Amino acid sequence: MPNVSYPKNRWAWVEVDLNAIRKNTRAFKALLEPRTQMMCAVKADAYGHGAVECAKAMASSGASQFAVATVDEGVELRRGGVAQPILMLNECPLEGIDDLLAFDVMPSVYTSGFALAYGERAVSLGKVGRYHLAIDTGMSRIGVLPEDVVEFRRMIDFHRGLECAGSFTHFATADAIGDWDFRQQSLRFSDAVSALEGAGLEVGLVHCDNTPGTVLHPENHFDMCRVGIGLYGLQPSETTAPRIALEPAMSVRARVTRVVNPAVGEGVGYGFTYRVPKPNIQIATVPVGYADGLSRSLSNNMDVLVRGMRARQVGRICMDQFMFAVDVNDIRAYHPATAVERGDVVTLIGRDGDDEISADEMADRRDTINYEVVCNFSQRLDRIFT
Ligand SMILES: *Cc1c(COP(=O)(O)O)cnc(C)c1O
Repeated sequence: MPNVSYPKNRWAWVEVDLNAIRKNTRAFKALLEPRTQMMCAVKADAYGHGAVECAKAMASSGASQFAVATVDEGVELRRGGVAQPILMLNECPLEGIDDLLAFDVMPSVYTSGFALAYGERAVSLGKVGRYHLAIDTGMSRIGVLPEDVVEFRRMIDFHRGLECAGSFTHFATADAIGDWDFRQQSLRFSDAVSALEGAGLEVGLVHCDNTPGTVLHPENHFDMCRVGIGLYGLQPSETTAPRIALEPAMSVRARVTRVVNPAVGEGVGYGFTYRVPKPNIQIATVPVGYADGLSRSLSNNMDVLVRGMRARQVGRICMDQFMFAVDVNDIRAYHPATAVERGDVVTLIGRDGDDEISADEMADRRDTINYEVVCNFSQRLDRIFT
């Protein structure tokens, strides 16, 4: 365990290894031509890792821009002292425009109503409203359709309060290799950018690759890549794993708050979905629950590491706590030291001794992706930076 101070009031926390973040950032930067910028996605509190601290670690390792999903996420970075350009990856309610301009957070733009309101407000404040044009090349999420981009820009470009600082799209299948849908999106994007340039319109920085795109499709790096999940040391897909080595930055840990040795047949947790099957089973309690982002769907379906061993979580995960079982006979056989005690450190995600529980393992057991697992750990768990 790293030598840092742990939360005083709670026996549960998230550790974030900023060295891993820096290493991963440099690994992605090394994939890019020197002239290609790296925009780091630090939305959702840097995928649960702590936005301001991560952004600073990334900025020191090659990042030159940041991407967020909401106005407040942009404001948080500015208040935390992040000075690089920040792009919000969508539009916001018109009421959010004042904060965008006050904190110098660029919106993505794809509706004329938003664009003109943004330009209007910028002019009235004596500012320039810089934005990136979002192009929908097939994801059907946000953006102007490729066939409409030139007309859209002509409709808003008369406004002296607006300045196009970038043009981008987002891929639905960037993790696939040799995928027809990807090629189609890619072609629609380069055609749209050419059409804008052909019409004499400023396109700003051209960008489209996310983490898997950056690794697998270097021909699409253009002026900038938007890297997210990989910076946190997680692979977006099996296809990228052989191409880049990454180091997971997040560990989730807690301390055992109580240990008992119930009689055979006693139940554990709501609904008694687990009953003690034989003598000498320790039931240990951990103060982490679904309100901390540990999905209840993992009940009776996850492991923890304690004293360098794997132990099975048992009973339903509660809002604030869960239990795990340790077969004391096994421990004495393999690990003569001792059984589990109150105060022992329990690892939910991360390494302990020779074993590791990855966000991918937890994602598989929950039938989701590593992105959701790390984002889910809630603000109730302090982030401890190591
Ligand atoms: C989140 C996001 C990214 C980063 O995606 P990763 O798969 O985490 O690399 C890039 N672009 C857009 C538009 C996004 O929403």
